[in-house]
Amino acid sequence: MSNANATANAGLSTPIVRFAPSPNGLLHVGHARSALLNWQFAHANGGKFLLRLEDIDLTRARPEFETAIFEDLAWLGLEWPRPVRRQSRHFSDYETALSELRKLDLIYPAFLSRTEAAERVRKAEAGGRNWPRDPDGAPHYPGDDRTLTVAQRTKRISDGEPHAWRLDMKATLTGLAGSMCWDELGAGPNGETGKITATPAEWGDVILARRDIPTSYHLAVTIDDSIQGVTDVIRGEDLFAATSVHRLLQQLLGLPVPRYRHHGLVLDTGGRKLSKSEDATSIASWREQGATPADIIAMARLDSEA
Ligand code: GLU
Repeated sequence: MSNANATANAGLSTPIVRFAPSPNGLLHVGHARSALLNWQFAHANGGKFLLRLEDIDLTRARPEFETAIFEDLAWLGLEWPRPVRRQSRHFSDYETALSELRKLDLIYPAFLSRTEAAERVRKAEAGGRNWPRDPDGAPHYPGDDRTLTVAQRTKRISDGEPHAWRLDMKATLTGLAGSMCWDELGAGPNGETGKITATPAEWGDVILARRDIPTSYHLAVTIDDSIQGVTDVIRGEDLFAATSVHRLLQQLLGLPVPRYRHHGLVLDTGGRKLSKSEDATSIASWREQGATPADIIAMARLDSEA
């Protein structure tokens, strides 16, 4: 693989950070923590704070949530350059990256629907097989179509059969020499910090373009961080495990490797991660109940991340 030596971002460049919500719900205090930690970091280091809208899922993204994101962040006192990058306007950037991976013969069209894949896993498990699961708990893609011939793939695609694009993880890792690391300035859920070795194999054949969307979260976030020159990725520890996939894509595509700082999540009183679907915990509803920006900042417990 020609791009095995992805470069680490030079420590001397102006820090660039980003807050990258998906406009498919109202922001809650956990988002505020992430946005404010990014903002603080940019200010403390003479850096730049970007806002990016991760709206690849056009069925879930809504203009009213976008407006709410702008309002909430401005109310908290944050500022960012405009226009913001909206991922849905940049599908061609992700397509270019996919073509590169296709040329390297590392991705394959995956024809199984979600239901078919789940059924395959269910049957295997009923037969006593221990099916591997990714760090988010989802079963690995069965990958039957990994072995289709080029002619078979081409025919099924030209027949209009719906398909996603997945990374052939085994073939990819076999072709890479040595391990891949990133610098973790925060910590993962189990306190992982410092030089972290990426473990992408635990994700199986990750999805890089969905059936209905010409990209995926993993691909879009990796490409955008590179295009926008992000030097420091500051985000919740729930995305710590996904960093292994991002690190692998950087390696394959010859992209710079940012520093990462994963932070603890804001939990509800029951100790659960806050969810976008529960409007009661949204910043907007706190505001309606008379909370001030200082109240939200206090709830975001920024000092516990020092
Ligand atoms: N869009 C993702 C989210 O809303 C965040 C992506 C990231 O920070 O890498 O959870």
